[in-house]
Amino acid sequence: MSQLQPLVLVVEDEPSQREILLYNLESEGYRTCAAETGDEALMLIEEEQPDLIVLDWMLPNVSGIEICRQIKTRAETRNLPVIMLSARAEEVDRVRGLEVGADDYVVKPYSVSEFLARVKGQLRRTRPASVGQVLTYEDITLNAETYRVMRGAETVKLGPTEFRLLSTFMEKPGRVWSREQLLDRVWGRDIYVDTRTVDVHVGRLRKALKAHGGSDPLRTVRGAGYSLG
Ligand code: CA
Repeated sequence: MSQLQPLVLVVEDEPSQREILLYNLESEGYRTCAAETGDEALMLIEEEQPDLIVLDWMLPNVSGIEICRQIKTRAETRNLPVIMLSARAEEVDRVRGLEVGADDYVVKPYSVSEFLARVKGQLRRTRPASVGQVLTYEDITLNAETYRVMRGAETVKLGPTEFRLLSTFMEKPGRVWSREQLLDRVWGRDIYVDTRTVDVHVGRLRKALKAHGGSDPLRTVRGAGYSLG
């Protein structure tokens, strides 16, 4: 696996519907987690930091619309893509869903391939390397499908961890990542790794990127972490 696959949170109270969604997403290679209620969803968003949310409109207690509104008004979750699912095909509902900030809207019954295409479409924007997009930053090019990294005309040789690190940086140039955030994204939450390990691998990545000359594109931000550019 070239990098840690995106994590999709499914929020749906009906067990059979939920299982189908999870099955289809997992068949496509995504990691998944699931919630039955809005409160549970908000808790999981904070704990698991999913890359995308599939949110059913009809939920007990708090509706999907209200959860979407909450996600989109909080600064920490505003950029998290939300795909709303609804059995209601009326234009007014679709508009309402998009008004509260849903990034896309899928009407049940949906075709699996169309649903998965919508998921991929959202991830192309937020996690481009994970869906095989070629990323470029200055003279560096990263191809997540062929695992090839080039700097100018030279091939950059990277180990799998350095590759995942670089793709994380290249998905969001300029963003400062803390060591903990890099651990979650590159190593995964379930693995215990010391934060100093991050420094070791960033050091290796730097060395590999400069192997054929050129400036150091990675920046160490004191007390904060690392960023690309
Ligand atoms: Ca439901």
